[in-house]
Amino acid sequence: MNPYGPPGSPEDLWALCEKQASDGASNFRLRTLHGLEHSESAFSEGIERQSRRPTAFDSTEFASARRALLRWFRAHARPLPWRRERSPYRVWVSEIMLQQTQVAAVVPYFNRFLRVFPSVRELACARRERVLELWSGLGYYRRARDLHRAAQIVMRRFGGVFPENYEAARSLPGVGDYTARAVLSIGSGQPYAVLDGNVARVVARWRLLPGHIQQSRFRRRVERVLDTWLSRRRPGNFNQALMELGQTVCLPRAPRCPACPLRRSCRAYARGRPESHPAPRPHRPTERRFLALAAIARAGKFALVRGLDENLLPELWNFPSAFGASPESARRRLDEKLRFLFPWVRIHAAPKSEFRHAITHRSITAQLYAPEPWRGRGQRSLVSRGPQRTTNDGRRTNRLAVRWLSPSDFGSAAVSSIARDVAASLESNARSRTLQQKDLRASRKKERYSTEETRLRHGRASGRAPR
Ligand code: SF4
Repeated sequence: MNPYGPPGSPEDLWALCEKQASDGASNFRLRTLHGLEHSESAFSEGIERQSRRPTAFDSTEFASARRALLRWFRAHARPLPWRRERSPYRVWVSEIMLQQTQVAAVVPYFNRFLRVFPSVRELACARRERVLELWSGLGYYRRARDLHRAAQIVMRRFGGVFPENYEAARSLPGVGDYTARAVLSIGSGQPYAVLDGNVARVVARWRLLPGHIQQSRFRRRVERVLDTWLSRRRPGNFNQALMELGQTVCLPRAPRCPACPLRRSCRAYARGRPESHPAPRPHRPTERRFLALAAIARAGKFALVRGLDENLLPELWNFPSAFGASPESARRRLDEKLRFLFPWVRIHAAPKSEFRHAITHRSITAQLYAPEPWRGRGQRSLVSRGPQRTTNDGRRTNRLAVRWLSPSDFGSAAVSSIARDVAASLESNARSRTLQQKDLRASRKKERYSTEETRLRHGRASGRAPR
């Protein structure tokens, strides 16, 4: 950045002021192409920000904001199941489930999971298939696989207790910086501050920090504020209070400032339009994909195979499927796959139904194909050649894993959410077909009665006895 150029983004200005401070130039003057007045006002704003750097924090302001925050949390904390009884294991499970997932969606999964696996021991000893079954519908299944592996490591290396040391906690699969800090502070009361999107938003607004969450500079600024602000006596409550405030009051688009315990000292609130802070993160482009799926039924059950396509959702049961750049290429690839998987199946040329689904940044247009009626002899099972697989009980097998499940079994099996969507669309199709058939039968009956009635009337009028 050219320090003498025009003032650009708030980040540039912040960096400029940082440079000026480090140079020690008290009469530093910002030259700009836009005129002296504008530059000087921008500069004084920058200087003001400079004076708000964490090193110059007003400790009284921090202490009173901390007290207000903790008081508010005591009065307004939601009664969430992982808060009822705080143990590192419960906090750990809840934090893993809450990654990329809303609190309301997590609560029933958490309760069910803890009923089946009340401690690390039960989780470590469970089959992976069972863990995935209980996770089914929550998405991001890698979290469940890592949690299961980590529980086995905790049993083997740490005697079944979540490690109290940061480095040891970080060495567990699926435990990143955020999760380690959350478990250590909330579960064990250690003075670690946590930083997630909600916390970053609250801090950025409260201190009017420039930048967005994906910038390391921005994160460093937030961390500096948190280091000063964190309650050393109640780090767990402090972290939860900030997260709670971000989730329920300091909302991204419509912050509820009048209900906020920080509004007296909040700089974004004082300036107006707090919703415009922090700056929005750059948008990740969405990838559009087409997916062809086959609904192969036998006696009310559907054939499901492991994984989707392109190594997606490898542990979950899915309808046989194939991705493509267009609906035609997806269908062609599905046909090729089925020739190997289910040699007796030929799918119809036209899809039975179509629906949309999203997996992370992929926007998927899925088309469901039904098989043509089989006219050959017998339905051979799967070919025995295929990639080596490990069965649930650890045996190696050459057979591709296939399960036949009825839609009512989907709730208790490790089935992907896209397969659930397919089952829902099949069920709604079946329901509407039944209704149509009922309507058709009723209208035929009505038609028969009215023909009969006309014939009788006609017979009476002509004086002939009805036949
Ligand atoms: S006063 Fe408003 S903007 Fe500031 S922290 Fe509270 S809710 Fe967020």
